[in-house]
Amino acid sequence: GRGPYDPQNIFAKILRGEIPCRKIYENDHALAFHDIAPKAPVHVLIIPKGAYVSFADFSSTASDAEIAGFTRAVGQVASLLGLEDAGYRLLSNMGVAAGQEVPHFHIHLFGGAALGPMLH
Ligand code: 5GP
Repeated sequence: GRGPYDPQNIFAKILRGEIPCRKIYENDHALAFHDIAPKAPVHVLIIPKGAYVSFADFSSTASDAEIAGFTRAVGQVASLLGLEDAGYRLLSNMGVAAGQEVPHFHIHLFGGAALGPMLH
């Protein structure tokens, strides 16, 4: 991994309610909200509520219930936003090479337009 989880990262503050977000969906294990700097007409972030830096942390450490809750949240967001027919893209940046800015594991959901071959 890349060191311990930083409880002062921006998504930890959103989870604690210390800074606001435009929430779309929430369950016991995940929160989904609009990205503050959207890179597509629809740009949503889905994050687990637990303290995980990377997908490796999440997939190896989270409980089955957390993994299920997070995975279902991703599907729920796509469904709630009516993207199943038009399509959408899921993306997750991990670490230095991918330019991960926020060290709390998250998945980006992009939609609302024809998406190019890559979107960071
Ligand atoms: P990463 O590069 O870590 O995969 O992406 C982090 C994402 O978080 C970026 O798309 C960025 O715009 C978004 N972001 C950063 N700070 C905030 C914030 O305070 N609120 C929200 N809603 N999104 C944020």
